[in-house]
Amino acid sequence: MSNLPLDIGIIGQGEITICEIADTLTSGTPLDDVNGIIYKKGEELVTTKPRKEMSCDEISQLPYPLYQIFDFEKTVKRERTLDIIAGRSCPLNCTFCFHPSGKKYVQRSLDSIFAELDYWLGLYSYINYIRINDELFANNKERIMEFCTRIKSYNIKYMLSLRVTDVDKEILTALKGSGCSLISYGIENVNASILKSMRKPITPTQIETTLKLTREADISIVGYLLFGDIEETIETAMNSLNWWINNLQYRLGLVHINTYPGTFIYNYAVKNGIIKDELQYLKDRCPIVNISKLTDKEFSFIRKRINYSWKLSTTFVIDMSIKSIDENNICTGTSECFRCGNEVGFSMPFQEMSVILCLQCSTRLYISPKRETDQNFYEYFKNTNALADLINIAKARSNIIIYGAGKRTTLLLSFLSGLRPKISCIIDQNPLLHGEQVFSQYPIKPIEALSNEVCDLIVVTVLRDSKEIRKNIKSHNAKVDVINV
Ligand code: SF4
Repeated sequence: MSNLPLDIGIIGQGEITICEIADTLTSGTPLDDVNGIIYKKGEELVTTKPRKEMSCDEISQLPYPLYQIFDFEKTVKRERTLDIIAGRSCPLNCTFCFHPSGKKYVQRSLDSIFAELDYWLGLYSYINYIRINDELFANNKERIMEFCTRIKSYNIKYMLSLRVTDVDKEILTALKGSGCSLISYGIENVNASILKSMRKPITPTQIETTLKLTREADISIVGYLLFGDIEETIETAMNSLNWWINNLQYRLGLVHINTYPGTFIYNYAVKNGIIKDELQYLKDRCPIVNISKLTDKEFSFIRKRINYSWKLSTTFVIDMSIKSIDENNICTGTSECFRCGNEVGFSMPFQEMSVILCLQCSTRLYISPKRETDQNFYEYFKNTNALADLINIAKARSNIIIYGAGKRTTLLLSFLSGLRPKISCIIDQNPLLHGEQVFSQYPIKPIEALSNEVCDLIVVTVLRDSKEIRKNIKSHNAKVDVINV
């Protein structure tokens, strides 16, 4: 908090707290009376008494989110999907997870969920897909069966999150029959020892049984195997990979575990000196660190195997067509579902593009926006005046920096070969790129180049976070010209 440009922070659930803060600031009364906040009082940081977490009745009575102020109509027309928050927190304590909304698990009443659904459908009749957000939506069989009966009459498709221990054949049949097309399961690992270390109270047998039953019920699955737990060894990691290769039909994702602040494994990493500087770790956006029993060599081997296996086994949709990428990096386009042939439209931030969902059969379609946008980028430069414009701008400069060492830079430099002598350096934030050669240059960290007074033009080829990058450049050197390509 002391490192953030904020005066007040809310701890835990914020709906009541934010109203009390507003009342307090308006009336000029002291903030000490508002429970559940941390605030700056002069040089001092004050944490007030914790706020009592809301009960099931209380969260059921909260007003619906005021989505309208975020131009919701435009979003919902495009995506036709509505998110409903049906529960809060989770009673479990997996070591890699944290509960920002508090420790008490509460579910909304079905009446309140359906009242909200009626409200939104009354306003936006084109909603045709619901995402139910509650980690343990089926923890009570009677309740989930009642939900299935009630939602069936809406004739709408939906997805939800369940634990593998919470479903059986009867529930899955009811879910399928009432419109459920996708279930997200918290699987995480297939080694009993690692599940135990993760404090995940499920077994490999339960995982396999539930996945099989779900496939038999013709419901799509989303789930991940996590690598790199504290107890991970080369044997357990290879066992997970081999299990995954033998069970590709479930299309589970492979990811390395993240040590997010607030988790048990984060505290473990700090306590054991794996994360040395917590503030810097946050500034670096919580990079993956080795908390496992793997040696650094094994750790790097497993990371490469995860990436390699994932790419090899993933069916990328190749006939995706990007219609536009706007100034906020929102990509809009269409693709075709390879399973049911449905045309799937998408419109989402470029940096979040890797999977799109077919709303007809809920198959996840893996897309390679990078490849597509590289192609668009190439065509754009080849067929428009953009290249001539860029060359004209660059000609008048003597010292150019390229920001971004990826494929777009490679393409750009292949066009700008005559200007290459003027390019003093290529910079990139990604440390993995710092040892790589790009057109005879070794990319360096931004901090080493941004305050370069002699540089008179920076060309940013990075799509992700381009606004932030621009701000960062200007904060180091206000005079330099920056262009995004
Ligand atoms: S990972 Fe899932 S089951 Fe585990 S604590 Fe988090 S929400 Fe609960």
